[in-house]
Amino acid sequence: MIGPNVTLARPLPARTAPARSLEGLPARRATGGTPVANATLVGRADLTDQVARFRVRPDDGPRPSVAGQYFSLGLNIDGALVKRPYSNAAEAGAAELEFLIRRVPGGRFTPALWATSEGTPMSLGRATGVFTLLPEDDRTHLFISTGTGLAPILAMVNALHDRPDPPRAVVVHGVAHVAELAYRDRLTVLHAAGWIRYIPTISRPTEAPNAGWDGATGHATRALSGLFEDPGDPGTGRLDPGATVAYLCGNPGMIESAGAVLASHGVPPEAIVTERYWAEQPA
Ligand SMILES: Cc1cc2nc3c(=O)[nH]c(=O)nc-3n(C[C@H](O)[C@H](O)[C@H](O)COP(=O)(O)OP(=O)(O)OC[C@H]3O[C@@H](n4cnc5c(N)ncnc54)[C@H](O)[C@@H]3O)c2cc1C
Repeated sequence: MIGPNVTLARPLPARTAPARSLEGLPARRATGGTPVANATLVGRADLTDQVARFRVRPDDGPRPSVAGQYFSLGLNIDGALVKRPYSNAAEAGAAELEFLIRRVPGGRFTPALWATSEGTPMSLGRATGVFTLLPEDDRTHLFISTGTGLAPILAMVNALHDRPDPPRAVVVHGVAHVAELAYRDRLTVLHAAGWIRYIPTISRPTEAPNAGWDGATGHATRALSGLFEDPGDPGTGRLDPGATVAYLCGNPGMIESAGAVLASHGVPPEAIVTERYWAEQPA
C-alpha cells in the first residue's frame, strides 16, 4: 500500500504476484482476439473514501506515452467488459501507470473499481489523447485543475521540470476538502524550490474536514484573476497574458469559467489547452 500524498510512481519493490484469478474478467481473450486482462492493479492508496490513487502495471512491460495522455481501464462488470478513460499521473514510459480517480456514486465503472484490491487483473488500452505539452514553449505555464484533473497536470509538471531550462509554472488545484489535495508533497517541494508557484484552494473551507486550513479558499477560477492583475500575486508577480499558456483539466464547469476568465484577461484561445472529464448535463 502506498501512502497518500507521496511523490508518485516510483515503481513498487518487486513483489510476489498473488495467485492470478481471472474471476473478475471473462476470458483472457474477448471475441476477435483482443486481450482482456493485460495488466494488474499493483497498488492502491485511498486519499478519502471517494478519491484514490491506483497503480497499474502492464503485463507486457512499459507502455509508450506522453505526459498528459490517458489510458482506458477495463473491468468485467456483470459479465461485460466496461472501460473508462483515465489520465496517467506517472512519468511517461514508467513501468507502472498511476491513476487518480474519483468514485462517482451510481456510476457504472468506479463503484466496481472501488471493490478491487492489489492483484486484480485489468484491461488496459494504449496511451491516447492530445492534452499534452506544446513543444519548445517558453511561455509561463499556468496549470489549472479541479479534483482528479490534477493527474495529467502532475505528469506534465514533472516532464517540464525535467527540461534543462524549464519555463516558469503556476499550478492551481481546486478541491472541496484538504485530503483531496493529491500530490501535495511533490508540488510543495517544487514550490519551495522556487520553480513553481503552487496554489491549492479549498472550496468548502467551513466544513469540519478542512479545520485548520489557512491557504486559499474558493473555486480554482477565483484564484486566477489576481494572477493577471497589477501588482499580481505576491508569489508570482503579474502574469503576462501574451506570454502565458494555460492547461485546464477537470470538471466542465471549471473549464468554462476559467476559460472565460483567461479570455477576459487577454489570453488568446490558442494558448488555452483543455481536457474535460465529463460532459455537463443539460439542466
Ligand atoms: C479523457 C478523459 C480522462 C479522464 N481521466 C480521469 C481521471 O484521471 N480521473 C477521474 O476520476 N476521472 C477521469 N475521467 C472520467 C472517467 O472516465 C469516468 O467518466 C468517471 O470515472 C465516471 O465513470 P463511471 O463509470 O463510474 O460513471 P458513469 O456511469 O460513466 O457516469 C455517471 C455520470 O457521472 C458523470 N461523471 C463522470 N465523472 C464524474 C466526476 N468525476 N464527478 C461527477 N460526475 C462525473 C458522467 O457525466 C455521468 O453523467 C476522464 C474522462 C475523460 C474523457
